[in-house]
Amino acid sequence: AEAETELELRDISVHYGGVVAVDGVSLSVPRGSIFGLIGPNGAGKTTLIDAVSGFAPHTGGVVLAGTPIGDLAPHQRIRAGLGRTFQAIELYEDLSVLENVKVGLTASGHRSEVSGAVERSAGERMEAVFRLLGLDSVRERPAGELSQGQRQLVSIARALAGHPRVLLLDEPAGGLDTVESAWLGERLRRIRDSGVTIIVVDHDMGLMLNLCDRISVLNFGQVIASGTPAEIRVDPRVAEAYLGSH
Ligand code: ATP
Repeated sequence: AEAETELELRDISVHYGGVVAVDGVSLSVPRGSIFGLIGPNGAGKTTLIDAVSGFAPHTGGVVLAGTPIGDLAPHQRIRAGLGRTFQAIELYEDLSVLENVKVGLTASGHRSEVSGAVERSAGERMEAVFRLLGLDSVRERPAGELSQGQRQLVSIARALAGHPRVLLLDEPAGGLDTVESAWLGERLRRIRDSGVTIIVVDHDMGLMLNLCDRISVLNFGQVIASGTPAEIRVDPRVAEAYLGSH
């Protein structure tokens, strides 16, 4: 049987002045999957995430678990069940890891459990997130003292604290070495296995091919290929898009 669709994008376009940054993108993201977006620099990956999360004015439909959210403001989309991180991680450097993650709870308005029947308290939710990401040992440390890999995990924890159905990650492996990137991949699988659907943009091709259940390739704002990592790896259109960008 086909997996249910958690997030559906229908003909999304974003124009910046005369530039068409995203050009008619339609995608179905299966519930409980890790869905990758790759493509050369300037292909429109970040802009697509900005459109989905409400930061970029767009045309077309965004449907989250059957509910249209494309007309909502960013904070309303968070409350509807979207979480995201940004390419440039913004943490409160002097505050502890715990305090940084708590910000995510506030932003989401303490959304209650979406999948289960039981409503868990915000405190329990935080505990679960810390365990899931392996951040327990650094929870009292100031964010400014952490490694780049730990900072990435804190920004992901902050997004997860709001209990999203769908987590949008923009370059989570940016600035990470190979070991940190493998560690991150392991944590992202755990998040998926806990029931959260993940959409990830990253340039680390090794990580993406290894991690993602499905991948779509963007070039000049359009989807030029979609498939499993094995299919994407051998697709001549993908190689061509990357070669053409240099
Ligand atoms: P990268 O991999 O380098 O991060 P990307 O695939 O995420 O690239 P985007 O950053 O989404 O690509 O950019 C897509 C296009 O939109 C580019 O041509 C870019 O110059 C343009 N663009 C992005 N943001 C803006 C903006 N705020 N104003 C004007 N043009 C923009």
